[in-house]
Formats: sequence, C-alpha cells, structure tokens
Amino acid sequence: MTDFSYDLVVIGSGPAGEGAAMNAVKQGWRVAVIDERHQAGGSCTHLGTIPSKALRQSVRRMMQYNTMPMFRAVGEPKWFSFPEVMKAAESVITKQVEGRTKGYARNRVQTHIGRASFVNPHEVSVTSRDGKVLSVAGKHFLLATGSSPYRPDDIDFSHSAIFDSDSILGLDSTPRNILLSMVPEL
Ligand SMILES: Cc1cc2nc3c(=O)[nH]c(=O)nc-3n(C[C@H](O)[C@H](O)[C@H](O)COP(=O)(O)OP(=O)(O)OC[C@H]3O[C@@H](n4cnc5c(N)ncnc54)[C@H](O)[C@@H]3O)c2cc1C
Repeated sequence: MTDFSYDLVVIGSGPAGEGAAMNAVKQGWRVAVIDERHQAGGSCTHLGTIPSKALRQSVRRMMQYNTMPMFRAVGEPKWFSFPEVMKAAESVITKQVEGRTKGYARNRVQTHIGRASFVNPHEVSVTSRDGKVLSVAGKHFLLATGSSPYRPDDIDFSHSAIFDSDSILGLDSTPRNILLSMVPEL
C-alpha cells in the first residue's frame, strides 16, 4: 500500500473532473485524479458524448455519399455494418484519450487507476482490477463520478435485443430497425 498526499483529489476523469483538476493545478495545488478506467476521459469519452457523436458523423457522411447525385459518378451507394462504423468511432476515442492523457502529464496532475472508496474524510482506498489497493490522501476531494444508464426493473436487459446507451456500443451486428424508448422524467 503506497501513500500519496495531495491538496485536491478528484474522483472521475470525465469533463467535470478534468476541468476541476486543471483549474486547481493552475492555482498551484497538488492534484490527483482517480478513475477506475485505464484510459482517461470518463464515460463522456468512452460511452457518451464522443462515441455517439463520432458514430453520428460517420453515418452522416455515409448518407451524404449515398444520397448525393454527384457521388453516383464515382460509384454505387455503399453500406457499412454497425461494427465497422463503431471502429471508425474508436479512432476518435483513441485521439481523445491521447490528448487528455498528455494534458494531465503536461500539467503534472497525477493519475491513479482504480475504484476509489472513502476510508475516512481525508483518505480513499483505490482498488485496481488486479486487486491491488493503494491509499490516496487529500485535503479536499471532488466527486465527479458521473452517471450510468437507468435500468427500470420492468425491462429485461438480459434480453439479446434490449440495450442501454452503454451496452449498445458493443452491438456486433447491424439492426434493421430500432425502437427507442426514453424513460419519462422522474
Ligand atoms: C449516449 C450519450 C450521449 C451524450 N451526448 C452528449 C452531448 O452530445 N453533449 C453533452 O454535452 N453531453 C452529452 N452526454 C452527457 C455527457 O456524456 C455527460 O454529461 C458527461 O459524461 C458527464 O461528465 P462527468 O465528468 O460528470 O462524468 P463522466 O464522464 O460520467 O465520468 C465519470 C468517471 O468517473 C468514474 N468513476 C465513477 N465512480 C468512480 C469511483 N468510485 N472510483 C473511480 N472512478 C469512478 C467513471 O468510471 C467515469 O470514468 C451524453 C451522454 C450519453 C450517455
């Protein structure tokens, strides 16, 4: 168990955690960011904003190519499978992760990988996937742990055709139709 000590410990490396960490380090604070993911960026980069917008952009380009008469001069319409479109999105995610990781290094923000849980008001234990535990202490803590998709009890998410916004990214086929269900405001 290694001990680290900081002025600010941020839990979560999404946009909220990153913004707070960069602001604090510019005030001269010693800052650490903890995330359970091996790669920086939070759910925003890996599951939410970035993959969804990268997918939308790829599909838009494909639709433009397929529907603009000008492109018919160079070839017939082309269709990509969902996994192929997802691969294009992965390259955007990789670039985002690289940029964020460099940003932390350049600004001397220490990153720790693992799931953080409070031991006392000034200390968290950080458990990595291989079970290693380290202790991180801080004067201040900022919780930027984001959110996860709501799964109502009456919907069977173990069904092979039912996904939430996280699990849909692992779809290994191309659905012909999609029925979108939004949960009404709680
Ligand atoms: C499909 C989809 C599309 C979206 N599109 C947009 C969009 O176009 N524009 C927009 O503005 N917003 C969009 N959003 C919302 C946006 O993704 C979120 O608002 C944003 O990710 C919130 O950022 P955050 O920093 O609060 O947390 P997150 O990005 O959720 O990051 C939190 C991080 O904390 C980690 N974490 C949680 N608990 C612990 C713990 N105990 N120990 C260590 N790490 C922990 C998580 O693993 C995660 O990596 C979209 C969301 C979804 C799902």
